Amino acid sequence: MNIRSKIRLFVDTPLGEGQSILLDRDQANYLFNVMRLNIGDYISVFNGKDGEWQADVLHANKRKGILVAKYQSMQQLNPPDLWLLFAPIKKTRTDFIVEKATEMGVSRIFPVNTDYTNSDRIKQSRLQSHSIEAAEQCGGTYVPPVDELSKLTSILKDWPKDRCLIFCDENKVGEAVKTFKSSVGDKWAILIGPEGGFSKNEIKYLKSLEFVTSISLGPRILRADTAVVAALAIWQKEIGDWK
Ligand code: SAH
Repeated sequence: MNIRSKIRLFVDTPLGEGQSILLDRDQANYLFNVMRLNIGDYISVFNGKDGEWQADVLHANKRKGILVAKYQSMQQLNPPDLWLLFAPIKKTRTDFIVEKATEMGVSRIFPVNTDYTNSDRIKQSRLQSHSIEAAEQCGGTYVPPVDELSKLTSILKDWPKDRCLIFCDENKVGEAVKTFKSSVGDKWAILIGPEGGFSKNEIKYLKSLEFVTSISLGPRILRADTAVVAALAIWQKEIGDWK
């Protein structure tokens, strides 16, 4: 059995045997000041594409460092082809959504602007770092890209016709939670609204689209961040890679 370090770091370098990895200031600070690693110690690294590797510390100082990849300790594991579309809410709850979506397994994250979106700006780089941290922490080898904020209506206009969009509709509260059935293909996406829910126009438009299926998430109205986790759990259990 491979030995794997529990210290995991996302790196932006192709990974292969003998590959050297240059650490930036934050990474060096984390490994050598916070975790107190020394030359000869090893950690787990991944880049989102080449699986997980064990890498030795070759050079260490407070601001820089070099690792060298030794062997692959885990194959690349990509999540199912599931997108998450959500309307950003308050900062820490939006961070939570990105973190949890990464842990639960999604392939791409789209913050979307809806009629009642609470916040019309996001910091994409901040959200992307949250998803990197979540992947480091949960043992994943994939980091879902977080897109810039865009309008829900623009995304729907160019929607890939073979991707089923599961619209979590708070008006269905109390209805039984349906099994997912796609009418259009085997690619998926889940849409969760903001604290104010969706507008009448949005609901009408969504329901008119062939690739949209609306579902209930049970007998209570969930906060948007809870709804994200609930919808992903139901989807993963039924269709995803949790089986
Ligand atoms: N203010 C709205 C609730 C918004 S909850 C109202 O009072 O009706 C935030 C989002 O979570 C919703 O837009 C929906 O996408 C999802 N959601 C929460 N509870 C749900 C439920 N029981 N069924 C389906 N979707 C739900």
